[in-house]
Amino acid sequence: MNSPTPLIAGNWKMNGLASSIAEAKTVADGVGATSVRVAICPPSILIHRMSQALAGSKVLVGGQDVHADDSGAFTGDVSAEMLADAGAKLVIVGHSERREAYRESDDLVAKKVLAALRHGLEPIVCVGETIDQRKAGDALKVVTEQVRGSLPPQLDGKAFAVAYEPIWAIGTGLTPNNPQIEEVHGAIRATLREMFGEHAQTVPILYGGSVKPANAAEILHAREVGGALVGGASLKAEDFLAIVRAA
Ligand code: PEP
Repeated sequence: MNSPTPLIAGNWKMNGLASSIAEAKTVADGVGATSVRVAICPPSILIHRMSQALAGSKVLVGGQDVHADDSGAFTGDVSAEMLADAGAKLVIVGHSERREAYRESDDLVAKKVLAALRHGLEPIVCVGETIDQRKAGDALKVVTEQVRGSLPPQLDGKAFAVAYEPIWAIGTGLTPNNPQIEEVHGAIRATLREMFGEHAQTVPILYGGSVKPANAAEILHAREVGGALVGGASLKAEDFLAIVRAA
C-alpha cells in the first residue's frame, strides 16, 4: 500500500504579528514544486490574513486549537466553524502545552476532533510521553492509550494526522534517536490499524520535538515518519524551508 503524502506543519504557538505574514509568504514562495504537504499554524488572530496572503500557494493555514462546541458562552475561545471561515484547513488538537496548561484530557481532545470534522478541518492530533514516563518504560503504553482515547471512531475514512511529540523533546533541543522514534511510530501505526483497519495506512504520523534543519533529513527518513510538526524552527522561513526540502 502507498504511504501517505508527508505533511510538514509549522506551529507558531503564541508568536507572530501581522508583519510576520511576510515570513509565511517567503515560505510559500520558496516551497516550489514540492511533493510534500506544507502547513503553517499561526495564532488564530492571523489566520484570516495569512490565508488571504497565501491563497493559491502550496502552503495551507491551520489553527493551533479549537473549542469542542460550535458556539456559545465560551469567552476567549474559537470554534471550528470560525477557523474554517477564516480560511484554516487544518487544526492542531491535544498539543501537550494545552494538555498540561489547560488540563485537556483525551476525552476533551476527542470532542475537539469531532468539532474539527463537523466543519471540514483536518485534525493533527498530538500525543507524547513525559521524560518520567519514558524513564519508567511506559512511553509506548502512554502514547497508545492517548491515541485510543483522543481519536474518535468518526475519524474512519477522514483525513487526519497523528503527531508523536515526546514532551521532553519539545523546545529543548533534545530528540529521541531513530530507533526510539520508529518504535513509537510503529506502535501508533499498529494501534491505528486496530482502530481503523485499512484506513490507518492513509494517516501520516508526524514526529515533533526539536526538529531543525540539521536533524530533519535523518528524522524524516525514519520508518513510519510521515512528516513533522515543527515549533521553533518554523518561525524562520529559511529554517522551515530547509526542513520541507529535507522531507
Ligand atoms: C511543538 O511544540 O509542536 C514543537 C514541536 O516545538 P519545537 O519544534 O520547538 O520543539
